Amino acid sequence: MAGMSTGIIQFSCHHREGGFDCGPELWDRFLRARQCCREWGIVGYDPARYMGYAFGNLSLRWPCGPENAFLITGSGTSGLATLTPNDCALCERCDLEHHALWSVGFTKPSSESLSHAPFYRRKPRVQAVIHGHCGVVWRHARDLDLPCTPASATCGTPELSHALDLSAQEIPGDSGMVAMLGHEDGILTFGPSIEDALQLTGEMIARAERLDRG
Ligand SMILES: [Zn+2]
Repeated sequence: MAGMSTGIIQFSCHHREGGFDCGPELWDRFLRARQCCREWGIVGYDPARYMGYAFGNLSLRWPCGPENAFLITGSGTSGLATLTPNDCALCERCDLEHHALWSVGFTKPSSESLSHAPFYRRKPRVQAVIHGHCGVVWRHARDLDLPCTPASATCGTPELSHALDLSAQEIPGDSGMVAMLGHEDGILTFGPSIEDALQLTGEMIARAERLDRG
């Protein structure tokens, strides 16, 4: 299956165990956004989809350095009804050129962390990235005029990170959505706040559903 979500970490993950605290307000906003994505069915777990691998992940720019660090949901946690910070990891540094990542937390970062990293690196005002699996938006990506990464760039690969890095440079402004044609159902939204990213995602789903109904 093209672009199958394998859930297997393919980058060099230099992970150390440890805690971090993002404060209750930011955490609450993060959880609310995640809950909404789960209700839309773009983040979650379904034994009938993607060979039973959990899908979708969310991240937030880390408010207190290092530069371009971000908090991301942990690998394999998308099926959990709710999360604690212990189910997330803080990605402190990413090296797209060498497909490597340095992180801290009580769980390893999402296998798709390097798909989020380019948007923090290229767009200083981006505060949040949502990666969901949404068949209806993905199928209508061209009709919705969404920028797309090539079908040859499959899930979790350096090719996909580099394609997204290009997208992050080419798409103007601080919010937008990309469809990943090499990653079945893969969409990614970024925004100047997690609420903005969520709203854009919801608008695109509504537009795609209207197209689907013809
Ligand atoms: Zn995915």
